[in-house]
Amino acid sequence: METRQPALVVVGAGHAGGELAMAARQSGWPGSITLIGEEPGVPYQRPPLSKAYLCGQATEADIQLRPAAAYETAAVRRIEGVRVASIDRAARQVLLTDGRALPYDKLALCLGGRPRPLSCAGIDPHSPPANLLYLRTLRDARAIGEHLQPGKRIVIVGGGYVGLEVAASAVGRGALVTVLEAQPRVLARVAGPELSRFYQSVHAAHGVDIRTNAAIAAVNCEAGRIVCLTCGDGSTLEADAVVAGIGMIANVEIANAAGLDAANGLEVDENGMTADPDIFAAGDCTRYQHPLYGREVRIESVPNALEQARAIAGWLGGKPKPNRSVPWFWSDQYDLKLQMAGLATGYDRCVIRGSFEAHSFCAFYLAGDRVLAVDAVNRPAEFMAVRRALARPLVVDAAKIADESIALRELLAPGA
Ligand SMILES: Cc1cc2nc3c(=O)[nH]c(=O)nc-3n(C[C@H](O)[C@H](O)[C@H](O)COP(=O)(O)OP(=O)(O)OC[C@H]3O[C@@H](n4cnc5c(N)ncnc54)[C@H](O)[C@@H]3O)c2cc1C
Repeated sequence: METRQPALVVVGAGHAGGELAMAARQSGWPGSITLIGEEPGVPYQRPPLSKAYLCGQATEADIQLRPAAAYETAAVRRIEGVRVASIDRAARQVLLTDGRALPYDKLALCLGGRPRPLSCAGIDPHSPPANLLYLRTLRDARAIGEHLQPGKRIVIVGGGYVGLEVAASAVGRGALVTVLEAQPRVLARVAGPELSRFYQSVHAAHGVDIRTNAAIAAVNCEAGRIVCLTCGDGSTLEADAVVAGIGMIANVEIANAAGLDAANGLEVDENGMTADPDIFAAGDCTRYQHPLYGREVRIESVPNALEQARAIAGWLGGKPKPNRSVPWFWSDQYDLKLQMAGLATGYDRCVIRGSFEAHSFCAFYLAGDRVLAVDAVNRPAEFMAVRRALARPLVVDAAKIADESIALRELLAPGA
């Protein structure tokens, strides 16, 4: 008698979904693998969208995660440009917007997120201004790129990593750039004040006008385009285009509608399993208890998406590889290669090793003598060493960290 092959259906063809489909095959998943993505084309890397691609230093072909042929070779069937509209858990099938129904034995939701929309007086959410732009997809990046021309006035709302990277790329292409940040400093949600001050000064040196405590009260539009923004203090700013980088909303609606616990992210365990043992999830759309930090996290980073995807693939292939990875991330702006590892929440002091002036330093975030996190600028070797050590967890002689006459590896050694 013929036995039916089990079907793995992966929804979302971004970093997590693309990796999971391929890694499941490598891990020995015996059945079919279908990767469904609403975006057209093969899965691509998002980080270059605000960096090399926007600067004109990378093409669309350069940023593909893998060539289309790699999926064919691995017998991963790709369905592109189609959305999964709903999940029928009772019938174990997903329903596509083109009317198809696909049965699954195991389902993986790698749905990512979408930009948080800018909301203020003058913006009709049903008919947003044509020059109000966001950055999540290649299509978004193409649209922003068209505005990055010499002399164009680009206003960036939000001084987080995406906003600051777009600012660096935009001034590099000759645009006149202003960043409006509602908090008293840029990177307020993700880095300490020392790093914020450093980045503000570097951007100012490149001609970016960074305005903090600058919440937007209203936009004035003419013929469906923003021409001027008004801040809470009454100041105004003319603009040719506005790029809003004010965070992400996890795409969890289809999971919620299917009865899974998906408020601000779909809850998963260290193998990526949801409350339904046949449904897994990975990447920006998930939240989980982090074993090192003892609290729930929702991490928006490529390494996290890849680690979670590999954990699911390991589980499905019968070789569990639970995700216990130290969160990490990077950001490229000008000549600065910033790498961050760990989670700084709850730190009581920040110790700097190196020099801001030389654009080469590590910022250690400590709670007592425990290192919770590190931000490294142009120090890849030290970053790698600290990132690895953070998995222990890492306790150091904090008084010695700033002393560069002592090799970092001595300070990081267990029991040092
Ligand atoms: C501009 C930018 C710069 C970034 N820079 C960095 C960086 O330097 N370093 C770093 O670590 N991280 C960076 N990130 C974050 C990183 O890109 C994300 O963490 C990563 O893409 C998460 O992968 P994911 O697979 O969870 O989501 P995504 O890559 O967003 O993929 C999700 C996919 O699922 C699709 N989808 C959603 N719902 C459905 C549905 N119902 N049916 C079918 N398809 C669906 C979406 O269209 C999307 O293609 C950056 C992000 C952006 C936007």
